[in-house]
Amino acid sequence: MLTGDRPTGPLHLGHYFGSLQNRVAMQDDFESYIMVADVQALTDNFHQPEMVRQNVLEVAMDNISAGMDPKKSTLFIQSQIPQIAELTVFYSNLVTVNTLKRNPTVKAEIAEKRELFGQDGESVTYGFLGYPVSQAADITIVRAHIVPVGEDQLPMIEQTREIVERFHRMYQCNIFPLPQSKLSNSPRIIGLDGSGKMSKSLNNAVYLKDNPEETIEKIKGAKTDSGTTIEFNPKERPEISNLVLIYSLIHNQNPKDVASELKHNTYSEFKLKLAHDLNRHLMPFRAKRLELESKPHYVKEILDMGRVKVLEKAEETMRQVREAMKINY
Ligand code: ATP
Ligand code: MG
Repeated sequence: MLTGDRPTGPLHLGHYFGSLQNRVAMQDDFESYIMVADVQALTDNFHQPEMVRQNVLEVAMDNISAGMDPKKSTLFIQSQIPQIAELTVFYSNLVTVNTLKRNPTVKAEIAEKRELFGQDGESVTYGFLGYPVSQAADITIVRAHIVPVGEDQLPMIEQTREIVERFHRMYQCNIFPLPQSKLSNSPRIIGLDGSGKMSKSLNNAVYLKDNPEETIEKIKGAKTDSGTTIEFNPKERPEISNLVLIYSLIHNQNPKDVASELKHNTYSEFKLKLAHDLNRHLMPFRAKRLELESKPHYVKEILDMGRVKVLEKAEETMRQVREAMKINY
């Protein structure tokens, strides 16, 4: 299993329910790799390398605090595995520019990043447009079978499958498993501002490491419609439904049952209840997080062990790739 996060900020509830819980549950049964995607983060943050650097440890600590066990899972930094960059170059011959331009997630992200890539995406870089290709290399360098992700990443996994099939056909080999995505029951938590996705880059998130007061303030300020009843109806009333969904996830309940149980609450009563329960739910996470913050060396050691392990696996993959491509001089 391989999955990862971009070090563009600390992790939030979307990650927690969208991917972290799944990856923690899977580590008992799968050889698991968790990648801190610093090279990918730089594709749209090339102008702020310091920010990316600082968030590497944040993302690593969030994973460990959420239950990633360094004895069972391998945590590593993308840029420390140069074989990923090498594989990306070879894969880039197998993908057309038009396919990348049509990738719905890439398209939406280019539109969000007007300041960086221009009003109509006319200044989008080759690196950003190509990040799905590099993601295919991330997944296949460890020859992963399964990739737990949020909904926004489905086009990336599909792209990876296409690359793998084309690679095998083109070079008459069978090196990689065909990777499958694994969605959680809540593959898309929307932002507190009501926008399509809770996201580190959009400042619309409850971060797992937020303190209880921040959490209460953020939930109180979450956008809702002008209705008066609590309901779970994501199509017509996405904002309140998103809060009901979060409540249902922490209580392990069906969101429709939550809504009918709480339908007589006012929005502000419900929000307070949600914030308090969320704080209680995240207490063990936050305690572990504080402990890790006081021992960065321990976290760095885990990343270093991961680097050594993945380097070996990656080099074995590339040995096969170079042979298949007839560049094993
Ligand atoms: P950025 O804004 O920098 O892209 P992000 O919040 O989208 O940050 P990523 O590091 O890109 O976070 O995503 C890590 C993983 O978490 C991916 O598998 C992604 O699908 C999942 N994920 C991110 N946001 C959400 C969300 N709001 N709901 C469910 N899953 C999510
Ligand atoms: Mg993202």
